Amino acid sequence: MTPVTGTSGTTPPAPSPTPFETAEQRALRTAVAALGRRHAEGHDADPDVLWREAGKAGYLGVNLPEEYGGGGAGITELALVLEELGAQGCPLLLLIVSPAICGTVIARFGTGEQKRRWLPGLADGSRIMAFGITEPDAGSNSHRITTTARRAPGGDWVLSGRKVFVSGVDLAEDTMIVGRTEDARTGALKPCLFVVPRDTPGFGRTPIDMELRARERQFELVLDEVRLPADALVGDEDAGLLQLFAGLNPERVMTAAFALGMGRYAVGKAVRYARERQVWKAPIGAHQAIAHPLAQAHIELELARLMTLKAALLCDEGDDEGAGEAANMAKYAAAEACVRAVDQAVHTLGGNGLTREYGLGRLVTASRVARIAPVSREMILNYVSHQSLGLPRSY
Ligand SMILES: Cc1cc2nc3c(=O)[nH]c(=O)nc-3n(C[C@H](O)[C@H](O)[C@H](O)COP(=O)(O)OP(=O)(O)OC[C@H]3O[C@@H](n4cnc5c(N)ncnc54)[C@H](O)[C@@H]3O)c2cc1C
Repeated sequence: MTPVTGTSGTTPPAPSPTPFETAEQRALRTAVAALGRRHAEGHDADPDVLWREAGKAGYLGVNLPEEYGGGGAGITELALVLEELGAQGCPLLLLIVSPAICGTVIARFGTGEQKRRWLPGLADGSRIMAFGITEPDAGSNSHRITTTARRAPGGDWVLSGRKVFVSGVDLAEDTMIVGRTEDARTGALKPCLFVVPRDTPGFGRTPIDMELRARERQFELVLDEVRLPADALVGDEDAGLLQLFAGLNPERVMTAAFALGMGRYAVGKAVRYARERQVWKAPIGAHQAIAHPLAQAHIELELARLMTLKAALLCDEGDDEGAGEAANMAKYAAAEACVRAVDQAVHTLGGNGLTREYGLGRLVTASRVARIAPVSREMILNYVSHQSLGLPRSY
């Protein structure tokens, strides 16, 4: 038996170039991949250092307006940054919430003063904003959220409610909270978005003991009569779902990119292992039972990349409705491809698939995040059944 040791040289298979990507986007891919590789090969790969370096290079706010310190590009570019970092094994999960959801919403609907206050920090990464919509009793049914804002005398807001699974609240200076106003307390959700600074009195957080090994922890939040100034509200309180989805479509595209990066990373490791590991006459990668599922995973990831690109382009064109369907489909396709890719990669490494040294076992849990969040596989299938196919609802 030839033992296979070491974890070096795990460069993932490069995605095949697509005719839709510009020369600048390809150059960005190459540069981000190089940063990720340097970071992943470093001995004390510290995600905070990577966050700072990526911020300094302009990658974290590549989608935000230039006049507020961003790169002036779009979600297409931000997704590409997350995918390439993930493909090197060092994804930055908070890219999904801080510049993609919060940055987009503020850039599109914030006042001039709000943009000046928050965007430059989000753009260079010196300021992080978390995002909380999920509630313990509402779950996938966002229309049931009960976090409520009431007007206090003088125009302040007072916010009360609970949130769960909110990522990175400890790392973030602020959290954007989705609530509803008192006079829209019941019925279909008319969401309002409030920015809550971390140390505001009444804003409590408790970390949830997750099975994930990542820099970003998830928190349960309690908002107990949290008093906020009038301009904590971003956008119009009567705007309805439009403002929220302006942030949630990018979130789905970014989760797809997160899944694609992880899937590529896993396949890259497995392919390298399968080329070298030999227990009979030929390397295990010569057995079609090992090769075909890896080929299949590669194909599925490539297909999901195309859908992700389509969704990102629609977001960047401002076609919120078209982007809604495409972003859901992209998130679905990428998450499913990622879960299958990780499963096959772990299997390819046999026992080593579950060792810490090879770093694949932890991805079994991490890959499931993309299937559950920010919207579960079933809720996307429901959406496509109803919205795209016109089938009746069961709920
Ligand atoms: C690592 C991680 C990070 C997260 N980060 C954030 C964050 O930063 N901010 C935030 O707000 N939230 C965050 N979330 C929460 C995430 O968005 C929710 O977990 C997700 O929306 C599912 O909600 P739930 O967990 O309440 O599941 P539930 O809604 O209870 O669903 C449980 C199961 O039932 C299924 N189900 C529910 N309704 C239906 C139906 N009508 N038809 C078919 N099946 C159905 C679901 O698909 C799922 O499989 C995070 C979650 C995780 C795991």
